[in-house]
Amino acid sequence: MPGVRINFSKTGIGGSVGFKGFRLTKRADGRVQRTLSIPGTGISYVDSHAAGGSFSHEEPAASTTPAPHKTAACPTCGHRYTIGKVNFCAQCGAQLVSETPQAQA
Ligand SMILES: [Zn+2]
Repeated sequence: MPGVRINFSKTGIGGSVGFKGFRLTKRADGRVQRTLSIPGTGISYVDSHAAGGSFSHEEPAASTTPAPHKTAACPTCGHRYTIGKVNFCAQCGAQLVSETPQAQA
């Protein structure tokens, strides 16, 4: 599918889809980032929202927003992870149980 990009990272699987002037990015933390730009002008607009929520401006200082997804603790090190988003602990690398696997390993 042209224009679709999947990102694999330590913290999970994200992806983005976009075309000229518009991009929708699914971030590894479960939030969706929307980027609008006007080609040739340098003008762009970015906002994001938690999956399933409503769009809102991203607050640079906000860091206490509760995670919108169901989380569990790594059985090995206790690191919190989002069920269905990551297959391996970002902290210790242990394999994690996923209730909703998205892809075959
Ligand atoms: Zn761990």
